[in-house]
Amino acid sequence: MNNRDFILPDILAHEADMLAIRHQIHQHPELSFEEVATSDLVARLLAEWGYEVHRGLGKTGVVGTLKRGTSPRSIGIRADMDALPIQEETGLPYASRHQGKMHACGHDGHTAILLSAARYLASQADFDGTVHLIFQPAEEGGGGAYQMMQDGLFECFPCDAVFGLHNMPGYPTGLLGFRAGPFMASSDSVHIKISGKGGHGAMPHKAVDPIVVGASIVMALQSIVSRNVPPLETAVVTVGYFHAGHASNVIPDTAEMELSVRAMTFEVRQLLLKRIEETVQAQAASFGAAAEINIHDPYPPLINHAKETEFARQVAVDWLGEQGLIPDLQPITGSEDFSFMLEKVPGCYLLIGNGDGEGGCMVHNPGYDFNDDCLSVGASYWVKLVEKYLSNS
Ligand SMILES: [Zn+2]
Ligand SMILES: [Zn+2]
Repeated sequence: MNNRDFILPDILAHEADMLAIRHQIHQHPELSFEEVATSDLVARLLAEWGYEVHRGLGKTGVVGTLKRGTSPRSIGIRADMDALPIQEETGLPYASRHQGKMHACGHDGHTAILLSAARYLASQADFDGTVHLIFQPAEEGGGGAYQMMQDGLFECFPCDAVFGLHNMPGYPTGLLGFRAGPFMASSDSVHIKISGKGGHGAMPHKAVDPIVVGASIVMALQSIVSRNVPPLETAVVTVGYFHAGHASNVIPDTAEMELSVRAMTFEVRQLLLKRIEETVQAQAASFGAAAEINIHDPYPPLINHAKETEFARQVAVDWLGEQGLIPDLQPITGSEDFSFMLEKVPGCYLLIGNGDGEGGCMVHNPGYDFNDDCLSVGASYWVKLVEKYLSNS
């Protein structure tokens, strides 16, 4: 038995159509906040199936609402629609037709999963309450979830709970993974500009060398995780780039670097950002240089709510048995803007295995592809979750 054996018959009957939609989206990837054709397709299908469709939240976001019965209860399910600036190298017949753009994170699959569930929910699902299907832009950068919320997502479409999923290579195809509490890391990009004083490479005493200051900062930053963060906590401080100078006999005026900072809790995140600020400023001052620090693209840690995670897990266990789940799922130091939604509304972000076979690619790799065998499993799960959450009994 594997999880495909549990796919709802009517979802299986429409699988070929849904795969065609997935491949169409894959062929026409669109970057953050440019998901015009994708959101057109999503909105058209939802409207065809009888959803009340709202567009324009977070620029290209779409919400499809379906009400049944009289219950005031409501559930939100979210999929992301954006692609990445990567040149596809899969050689697939449905490979990207857009130069330098690719669905390398499987958001084409997530969108198709939710569309497949949407079709079923509208045609025959048994529930009492309101379902909001949230198709968001710009997960990969720009915080599309946050932008939809800024535009009133949860005020216009109140949800008692919200759920989302992501495929994950390295786990068996179609297995579902749940973990309560801190599950994915916060992410902050920290840009640092060091201003020294340029001069002749042969006369360093007349200059303030920003490269030496920068090198000292890079080394000093290494002590934050090792000396300030409690040993049992998770934290990452990576210097992703360090640019300065252009000739061996010229000391430049400035140096620039950018850090990626990750933590699993709000406390550790604050500690990291505080210590980075203090370390950078003190290092720069000790050389007579100045430092300017800017934090951008802040994503909070993703914290799954205990009650909703247990609920979502139980739905999977009742449907698939324990063998249908990823055992002992560990936290991930990647980040996800669904974390913004979970700050506002209780819920759970879960994984679906994308396959653990030879030759499988990690997401964001030019050889990656979403595993089509997951589509109907994911769609059936969303249906089970909605029917249970908004059950008649
Ligand atoms: Zn991604
Ligand atoms: Zn992704």
